[in-house]
Amino acid sequence: MRIDFHTHCFPDALAPRAMASLEKNCAADAAIHPHTDGTAGDAKRLLQSAGIDRAVVCNIATNAKQETNVNSFAISMAGDGFFSPLGSLHPDSVQMESELARLAAAGIRGIKLHPDYVGLLLSDPRFDRIFSLAEERGFFVVVHAGLDPISPELVHATPAMFAAVQKRHPRLSLVAAHMGGYCRAAEVLEHLVGTDIYLDTSLSAKRPEEKELLTKILHEHRTDRLLFATDTPWSNPQKEIAFIENAGLSAAKQERIFCQNAAELLHLA
Ligand SMILES: [Zn+2]
Repeated sequence: MRIDFHTHCFPDALAPRAMASLEKNCAADAAIHPHTDGTAGDAKRLLQSAGIDRAVVCNIATNAKQETNVNSFAISMAGDGFFSPLGSLHPDSVQMESELARLAAAGIRGIKLHPDYVGLLLSDPRFDRIFSLAEERGFFVVVHAGLDPISPELVHATPAMFAAVQKRHPRLSLVAAHMGGYCRAAEVLEHLVGTDIYLDTSLSAKRPEEKELLTKILHEHRTDRLLFATDTPWSNPQKEIAFIENAGLSAAKQERIFCQNAAELLHLA
């Protein structure tokens, strides 16, 4: 059983436009190109053909006005046998409590935040309000970590910032995407390995220059704090699976990474 903790898809009617604008944002990184047409149906086809049994959908509210629609899309996917959608909050939201209540009522257990897309550093106090609420209501929070091609000059969420968030919110289940920091593996080893913070493994197969450091992170980080993920459509799921399978990890640690840790966060039976 494999659960992919980080994928993206969009409502069918919006997928062509969303993919066109995301592709433009990613143009600075030649390694990143899409493997689906952006729809849920195409994501499911690709993921199932790679041997993935369930996928978390990381929806993101990139502005406060979109927040309700983004969460309604997540709620429309809830209860699906394949997808586990996440909600999202925007730091300027005036309806965080009611949005979290709506998500909770639909059985959604987590939210996704993307500091680069909302133009705020992860250390900004506006994020702390979201983290406090999530901590209080038992939501886990997935946050983009490290470089994003939309903001190549300024990394909005560094490994050191994640470590500081965890200190301020010790009861929060915090997931740092892309192994704790895309293109920031050395800082992850310094600040995050061995902490309570979950790391998702997405985009590892896209980072040949950091392969040794990423393998070291897999071996040295807590077995109960690693989550297999692909970032579909932005990576090839089969290559992401192979990266974990070829890292020299014990069968027991792989089982935790591919399935058990995610099942626990998602409250799957
Ligand atoms: Zn992503």
